[in-house]
Amino acid sequence: MRLLLFCILFILVYLSTKNYLSSTSDRQKKRNQEKKKHSEHTMVRCAYCHVFLPEQEAIKANDHYFCSKLHQDSMKN
Ligand SMILES: [Zn+2]
Repeated sequence: MRLLLFCILFILVYLSTKNYLSSTSDRQKKRNQEKKKHSEHTMVRCAYCHVFLPEQEAIKANDHYFCSKLHQDSMKN
């Protein structure tokens, strides 16, 4: 009987620890996803053709963003 109680207690402790760990890692994952989403949605404007595009797809040069290498080169001339 005592052994059974011990087993139940052990299972309860195991489950609560597991839940706690998974919930914290889930929260961290969500936070990371939100961060990622935020940077993905940062829109910048091409200094040459004024088209909006995501920041990581843009080419940055001298504090200006460009939608393509062609437009970056066109601004130089
Ligand atoms: Zn452009």
